[in-house]
Amino acid sequence: MHEMQLTDINVIKKLLGKENFQFSKSLGQNFLINPSIAPRIAELGNASPEYGIIEIGAGIGVLTHELAKRAAKVVTIEIDKKLIPILDRTLAAHDNVKVINGDVMKIDLRELIAEEFKGMRVAVCANLPYYITSPIIMKLLEDELPIDSITVMVQKEAAMRLTAELGTREVGAITVAVRYYSEPKLLFNVSKGSFIPAPKVDSSVIRLDIHNSIGEELENGYENIDRDIFFRVVKASFAQRRKTLLNSLSSGLAMDKTDIRNILDRAGVRENSRAEQLTMEEFKQIAKQIQM
Ligand code: SAM
Repeated sequence: MHEMQLTDINVIKKLLGKENFQFSKSLGQNFLINPSIAPRIAELGNASPEYGIIEIGAGIGVLTHELAKRAAKVVTIEIDKKLIPILDRTLAAHDNVKVINGDVMKIDLRELIAEEFKGMRVAVCANLPYYITSPIIMKLLEDELPIDSITVMVQKEAAMRLTAELGTREVGAITVAVRYYSEPKLLFNVSKGSFIPAPKVDSSVIRLDIHNSIGEELENGYENIDRDIFFRVVKASFAQRRKTLLNSLSSGLAMDKTDIRNILDRAGVRENSRAEQLTMEEFKQIAKQIQM
């Protein structure tokens, strides 16, 4: 069968027209029309014969198609049921794709991996719906899934935050979380004209290489740090990022300033520093001192 050009606007309009499909802004539907992007995401996102790939948000299957060509198996999760009959047609040539109609936030991904990807390494690849970029990334990381990498397209601004170096202005609580679980990398930028409809801002593709995946214990220098305390410290520090650490920690953790002053002193962190100036080691030290 002649391969359908899923990035061709005329093909897209025809496919969508048949189903009376209207793009939903609230579901973050911006489909790729630049043909060079999905192959690059698949190549850089570990789609290869030993891998099973989880995709989030299939759209009409542009990226799914590129993933299925390269990987052992693809399971794609799409929330919009109007897209399902379209995907049945656009992905008909692949017998290694499973489409799940559902909300990624409500799906037990650990169970999905155990059922669908026996004996395979697993990676996530997606052009994410931008309205829930952070919740999706946090779910993928916090669930400590047996996955090697998360390769996703996100808004450029979000990409900056997710891949920022600690100690820079772009840092937020999520930057620290990303680095706790993974090694982030900015792969390439994608202009807003690469999508239909065109979003207001440009995008970037990033990859998070998960520390010690395949279900092993996290072994990233945090073995002796209580994860809940570590993340409470991080969240409190960034909740009022312009305030000094002394103030933000004491209000965020509901602790006496005298106690916080002692903790910071023992951790070797200046009480008037701001969250964005801290290194990973300093966050760890603060958490450690609170634990003691
Ligand atoms: N992968 C396609 C592409 O690159 O052209 C579509 C990407 S589009 C930015 C995001 C897709 O995610 C949309 O198809 C949208 O319906 C879907 N989506 C939005 N929220 C979702 C959710 N909570 N769970 C699963 N899919 C979702």
